[in-house]
Amino acid sequence: MDLRGKRVLVVGLGKSGVASALFLQQRGAKISVSDAKSEDQLRDEIPLLLDHGISVETGQHGERTFRDQDLIIVSPGVPFDVPQLVYARERGIPVIGEVELAARFLKGHMVAITGSNGKTTTTTLAGAIISAGGRKALVGGNIGTPAISFVAGATDDTWIVLEISSFQLETIETFHPHIAVVLNVTPDHLDRHHTFANYAGAKARIFENQTADDFAVLNADSEPCVAMAAKSKAQVRWFSRLKEVAHGTFVSGGKIVWTDNDGVREVMPVSEIGLKGAHNVENVLAGVCIGMLAGIGPAQIRRAVADFKAVEHRLEYVATIGGVEYYNDSKATNVDATIKALESFPGGIHLILGGKDKGSDYSVLNGLLKERVKRVYTIGAAAAKIESQLRSAEIVSVETLDAAVRRASEAATPGEIVLLAPACASFDQFDSYEHRGQVFKDLVRQLAVRKQERVGSGVQRGGK
Ligand code: ADP
Repeated sequence: MDLRGKRVLVVGLGKSGVASALFLQQRGAKISVSDAKSEDQLRDEIPLLLDHGISVETGQHGERTFRDQDLIIVSPGVPFDVPQLVYARERGIPVIGEVELAARFLKGHMVAITGSNGKTTTTTLAGAIISAGGRKALVGGNIGTPAISFVAGATDDTWIVLEISSFQLETIETFHPHIAVVLNVTPDHLDRHHTFANYAGAKARIFENQTADDFAVLNADSEPCVAMAAKSKAQVRWFSRLKEVAHGTFVSGGKIVWTDNDGVREVMPVSEIGLKGAHNVENVLAGVCIGMLAGIGPAQIRRAVADFKAVEHRLEYVATIGGVEYYNDSKATNVDATIKALESFPGGIHLILGGKDKGSDYSVLNGLLKERVKRVYTIGAAAAKIESQLRSAEIVSVETLDAAVRRASEAATPGEIVLLAPACASFDQFDSYEHRGQVFKDLVRQLAVRKQERVGSGVQRGGK
């Protein structure tokens, strides 16, 4: 694809938008950039682009900006059906995403991982496994470094391991991973995809350009994944926590095993996995499957998995204070992730729920709440909706995370768990889930300090 002299508009100045603009400019395109945010909200990005001679239109996306372009690169944060993009497409202007742009230039072996939950954990783990096997791996996409930034450093023997979201898959055309993975599909982002079928359909697009030389890796325990296999042109490899599969990874007698035409091979005991929860066994099974397909030896895979620690904000252990354990699962931004977090502890849970609703049905939590949760603390904009749908828990309505941590710490007794797994997006009260998780961890650390001070002063008094 020759970009020299082409008029290209980048819509949306997230991380991938900035990276695309810089890439396009290096390749000689005439770039414009448009973002609906205000100049003030873009104060970090605008100077960076201005330094490279790229100007930015802020505020409204004007129709004129969209009219005279040869190509439009749209960010995953901008819905594909906004009127300006519909208008551009009607005028025959190609509209693609940054992942598609990258796909047209990237060299190497491409691994792409999508799913409703577990993408970041599995992508990071797969990168660690491939690196442990002595290969050069570049890990990014929807996390960390945008795919387009890998173009400069990737060669034919590089492994590009990408986390890919459903939004990114809506704007692909030729994107063609050699190994494509769908971890699971459960309701999420229904505010943007409108129906579950649309959402699952977007995820399935990860397989769209694969051929019989490629691999489709799917979760045999997830019905929507099983349905996708029938349509795949690639060789299907399965992973399952619950049953034996014909080709792929599964659990047998407490061990993770790999099976293919050559028979069954043992990779590692499940007990060596350092991550909490059955859902993480699934992520490891997917990671092992990718490693085996990439030709990494079972011993190297075993070492990489055993060394792997929880990614920050994913069921991350924070501290034990007065016998109560605190876990930060701020990345549990949908109901299924919250279910998985609850399933990771036998009981005695003080659960912090709430934030910005994404059209979710919280009533599916009722069974687990009854079984394992002592109290729910509701925060944020979704609190009223959540409270109206929960039947089987004692609910404390607190509004803020600060109050939730305080109330939970007062109520929890030794051996119990305080868990932030909010089932909602963070944007009503926080900049991001990372920000929310960081605030939670800071609050917990302050609790620990206060507890320490009380113990300290108690000792002094006792000494008098
Ligand atoms: P993603 O990148 O898809 O959001 P993460 O690895 O960041 O996935 O995890 C997001 C949330 O989902 C966390 O709360 C995590 O504990 C939970 N989670 C991780 N893996 C799974 C899985 N396989 N199934 C369900 N929930 C999961």
